[in-house]
Amino acid sequence: MEINPMEMTTQQLRDALLSAPVRCATQPELFFAPEERESAAAKRMREQSARLLCARCPVRAVCFELAMRELPEHGTWGGFTADELAALATDSGEVA
Ligand code: SF4
Repeated sequence: MEINPMEMTTQQLRDALLSAPVRCATQPELFFAPEERESAAAKRMREQSARLLCARCPVRAVCFELAMRELPEHGTWGGFTADELAALATDSGEVA
């Protein structure tokens, strides 16, 4: 029986992510901005590529739930950028 990620503890979410074969672990360059300057077009393409990989990820729901709890400042998580996650949290009332 599959557990609803919203009912999992944060540690259970972390453990589930660590045990899954996730593409962000092998292609981090798509999920995080490079250290050197990145053009707006390159950023859009990189983030879209990350979203496509997230869309097929077997633990996307787990990743999204953990990201909504931890609100990372950088990167793409569960198909959403850090800025989008922050906006969703604000809209849902999770962040003042
Ligand atoms: S959904 Fe999360 S774990 Fe899966 S590829 Fe995207 S960022 Fe990685």
